[in-house]
Amino acid sequence: MANHLYTTEDLMSEIEQLRIAQPHLENLLKAFGPLLVEKNQWLSDTAVDPRALPIDPLRFAEGIPLNRQHQLFFADDPWGSAGWSAAKAISQGFPHLGQDMEVLLRRFTEGKYHCFSQLFVNNQEADGQLSEKAAHLAISPTSLHLFLRVLNRFMLSKKARDMQAELAAHPWKKGYCPVCGALPHLAILGDQGQRRLQCADCGHAWPFSRLTCPYCEHEDPQNTNIFFIDGQKEDSAFTCDKCRRYLLTANRSASLGNPHADLIAMSLLHFDVILQEKGYSPMAECEWNSFLQKDE
Ligand SMILES: [Zn+2]
Ligand SMILES: [Zn+2]
Repeated sequence: MANHLYTTEDLMSEIEQLRIAQPHLENLLKAFGPLLVEKNQWLSDTAVDPRALPIDPLRFAEGIPLNRQHQLFFADDPWGSAGWSAAKAISQGFPHLGQDMEVLLRRFTEGKYHCFSQLFVNNQEADGQLSEKAAHLAISPTSLHLFLRVLNRFMLSKKARDMQAELAAHPWKKGYCPVCGALPHLAILGDQGQRRLQCADCGHAWPFSRLTCPYCEHEDPQNTNIFFIDGQKEDSAFTCDKCRRYLLTANRSASLGNPHADLIAMSLLHFDVILQEKGYSPMAECEWNSFLQKDE
């Protein structure tokens, strides 16, 4: 199951409800809310790619994710609209980067985005030449870095969405994502206690054994724990003492609707704070939970 799509109205009202229920998340939601809304809108507006990438069942069973079986990105993917939406969302959530995003918006409006799509299509590591590229565009390296991360997530989410049916037909036994190989930032427990891991980068979700650590595949009840906060039965965190990682875990029965996974993860930020103080690291770093580590 890939990202569930919402109407923009529903998603915005979900963000508003969370802001009211947990006022301490206000700044976080101001920064990242526009990214969730724009990505969801862009995905809804973007056609499903009929070009299915065939999954090699043997390599898949060995734990080789799709992005290591195939090239995922193509020059004719909708980079123009993705880049434009990504820059617009960043300018809304991070007003101090607004001028740099104006520069990028102009390039995407004028169709001059070949240099960006090429980075992804050729699988180049942009980081090495980031400052050079940023100087060439006359924007800051921070702006360019954030923009490329967001653009990558937009396109990966589309790939996960487009491959949904194909992926459902092949079992996957690993703790990292079958589409993009990233680690989960959240687990959701269903009605029968089954655990689904949620990819931090492409939004794909897949079932995974409840007792095994997705990070190090350690399966020993003596070294893994479920951490609760008093008075909150629905939410917890899985911790592993072998790799010292944790995974936010939400108990969401189907009857509660289909809340956005990133919003659930943000609503559990207090677990990130407590567990990082105890010396655990998040299984997947997102922009908001890695801020905590940098502050130390
Ligand atoms: Zn993924
Ligand atoms: Zn572990």
